[in-house]
Amino acid sequence: MDDTYQVIVVGGGFAGMTAAEQLGRKGVRVLLIDANNYHQFQPLLYQVAASQIGVSAVARPLRSVFRSTKSVRVLTAEVTAIDSATRTVTTIDGSQYQSKILVVAAGAVPNFFNTPGAEEHAYPLYSVADATRLSTALTTALDRADRAKAGRADVVVVGGGPTGVETAGALAENIKYLVPKYFSSGLAARCRVHLVDMLPNVLMPFSAKSQAYTRDRLIKLGVQLHMGQGVTEVRADGVTLADGTIIPAQIVVWAGGLKAGKIIADSGLPQGKGGRIDVLPDLTVPGAEGVYVLGDAANITDATGAKLPQLGSVAEQSGKWAARNIHADLTGGTRQPFFYWDKGYMAMVGRGAAVAELGRKRIQLQGPLAFLSWLGVHLALLPGTQQKVRALSSWLTGYVIHSPSHVVVGRPD
Ligand SMILES: Cc1cc2nc3c(=O)[nH]c(=O)nc-3n(C[C@H](O)[C@H](O)[C@H](O)COP(=O)(O)OP(=O)(O)OC[C@H]3O[C@@H](n4cnc5c(N)ncnc54)[C@H](O)[C@@H]3O)c2cc1C
Repeated sequence: MDDTYQVIVVGGGFAGMTAAEQLGRKGVRVLLIDANNYHQFQPLLYQVAASQIGVSAVARPLRSVFRSTKSVRVLTAEVTAIDSATRTVTTIDGSQYQSKILVVAAGAVPNFFNTPGAEEHAYPLYSVADATRLSTALTTALDRADRAKAGRADVVVVGGGPTGVETAGALAENIKYLVPKYFSSGLAARCRVHLVDMLPNVLMPFSAKSQAYTRDRLIKLGVQLHMGQGVTEVRADGVTLADGTIIPAQIVVWAGGLKAGKIIADSGLPQGKGGRIDVLPDLTVPGAEGVYVLGDAANITDATGAKLPQLGSVAEQSGKWAARNIHADLTGGTRQPFFYWDKGYMAMVGRGAAVAELGRKRIQLQGPLAFLSWLGVHLALLPGTQQKVRALSSWLTGYVIHSPSHVVVGRPD
């Protein structure tokens, strides 16, 4: 048992990494545990899946992030259990670590909502591993379709939120611009991208104007929209919709929702919506002394009473705020309720097109200006200079000359 840490942080995503960075700056002894040895930038995973950028643009080694922060130790290990009463975590090799404060920032996992066949046949998009698996599957499907007479590489994307819209847009662009360039003639005309959601429109939290713009752009890119239709089954050869329609497809992408992961479900902490932990406005868990839950693992209500969505900006800001409160805990100060600075949201719909609703006032942008804002914001958010340079160079080659800068090697049949 190693008990020399003041704080243990489980998860090196936006929330956990930011909390550890802030605490490290104050000299707090932190143990940061993540199953991966890198931080993954989820907002660009769909671009990895579409072979638009490489893995090295979205994954940053955690040891490199903390190389100069001597009070933070990075441990690569899967956490298998959390004991919130004693603030002890157990890792997959049976080691146990205990501390005065425990920060649970383990993110979420895909929620298949018990849809038959979804877990077995659909490709989720929540991690670097998911994105590379999907990228390989897409390339393999194209290679296979290229070999066969009248072969197809159709994709169904389930979920019309930002992830589903961005993924469908990127894949449709590949079919429109790259497939005719690199595969046999006629293949692009046979390939379809479908976007399905049980809700009546795409991007439901956005304004009607942004939704209309997005629908229009997707249709122009060739995406077939099936809104107001739930998926009742995912099959090896496509999906079945609630009205019995079958959409045949070689690949089904699942962007249909998230829930808390197993260690959270087994933690004994009180679970709320989506299996996430309901936290107090100061980001601690009621009845669990010294336990903070942040980011996608938590249902956060901020100081103004607003229920916050599962977003990178919420996770990052909750990490920063929790670090302040933890420092107060350790130095005899008083915790403050979390105040979220709402910067709005945005979604890209292919090259030169995006929608953005900025700030609390939701200032609306559509088209090239929103696209440039999207690029700027994501470039600024990407952690690490090397990651920024790699993403920028891929975007330049991808968006300017439509050249796939990342060759993906599909698994041979
Ligand atoms: C495809 C996609 C696109 C998105 N696009 C946007 C966007 O454009 N804008 C935006 O604001 N938000 C976006 N989001 C949401 C945003 O990425 C998340 O809200 C944010 O990443 C949550 O941060 P987090 O730190 O809570 O969790 P994560 O970033 O998920 O980090 C959790 C960490 O915990 C680790 N972990 C999990 N379980 C264990 C375990 N048992 N043991 C050890 N380590 C563990 C994981 O490896 C991971 O590193 C997107 C999400 C996805 C999936």
